[in-house]
Amino acid sequence: MNMEFEKKLALPIEVKESYALSWEMEQNIGAKRRQIEDIFEGKSDKLLLIIGPCSADNEESVIDYISRLCPLQEKVQDKILIVPRIYTNKPRTNGGGYKGMLHQPDPTGKSDLFKGLIATRHMHMRAVSETGFACADEMLYPENYQYLDDLLAYVAVGARSVEDQQHRLTASGIDVPVGMKNPTSGDYSVMMNAIYAAQSGHTFIYRGWEVHSKGNPHTHAILRGYTNKHGQSQPNYHYEDLERLCDTYDGMDLVNPAVIIDTNHANSNKNPFEQPRIINEVLNSARHDKRVKAIVKGFMVESYIEDGCQKVGGGVYGQSITDPCLGWEKTEKLILDIADYI
Ligand code: PEP
Ligand code: MN
Repeated sequence: MNMEFEKKLALPIEVKESYALSWEMEQNIGAKRRQIEDIFEGKSDKLLLIIGPCSADNEESVIDYISRLCPLQEKVQDKILIVPRIYTNKPRTNGGGYKGMLHQPDPTGKSDLFKGLIATRHMHMRAVSETGFACADEMLYPENYQYLDDLLAYVAVGARSVEDQQHRLTASGIDVPVGMKNPTSGDYSVMMNAIYAAQSGHTFIYRGWEVHSKGNPHTHAILRGYTNKHGQSQPNYHYEDLERLCDTYDGMDLVNPAVIIDTNHANSNKNPFEQPRIINEVLNSARHDKRVKAIVKGFMVESYIEDGCQKVGGGVYGQSITDPCLGWEKTEKLILDIADYI
């Protein structure tokens, strides 16, 4: 093979032994996981809000951001369940640019995957132990999932990965809810086939083992908008899109039909300030139609301390170095407004 094998990385079990969860952390994560499952099973009608920066690029500002969510979560606890987004792996449209903390613990430095593995686990552990939240990440590289599987409460499979067999099969063996995004082309059938595959049991190879999975009954859809043949962003959060998803679910043999609306990416045309308006429209659609209300379980919002984004190395504390985000003040207002509305 035309690649240099630089170093053998520690096994997930070894990293987990060195960076182990406390009893309190385990209890807390377990309780949060059950609350999230109750939402997907329709036992709780709280709204799920998966919220945080596009990329978790810096431990200090990410923990600062998540700590600010704590008092808000208290205020809205009867209506909203907040799951912070701590995204440590970034898929890139053409492969170039910042690939996330896993690759570059220092976004301006060279790739260092060994340091990156430790840095991502360290940040996720701090988030749980210091704030009491249980968090979400994207599963970009299925074989890395075991480095974080004891910590996460929610997993997303991205628009560029959702058609991939290994992502689908791995999701079938994950025991927290997995959101399958629509692909960048917008084809619902790719996303629905991913949900079908992940809700079924499989036998496959994982990390050098022959493994058997039972299927994940909490796998569901995430609508993130799409790109048309002219390269333009098109939304898919409108009433008609949600009705079409209800019809699609009706024609399939799936359990826990559900959708999370990603309010940034192609839905907002990467204008993060559209996110409150999009949420408002979806909540309105849910009020109008009980089928829509039954499947819309929540939102995925890109939010950070400062509005917008900057180039890597730009030096603004708490501002995204990937997709533009909604800043803190607008985020606080958004969460309180949602709680008022529902
Ligand atoms: C993201 O959530 O930041 C992301 C990269 O999403 P998508 O896979 O929808 O592009
Ligand atoms: Mn993003």
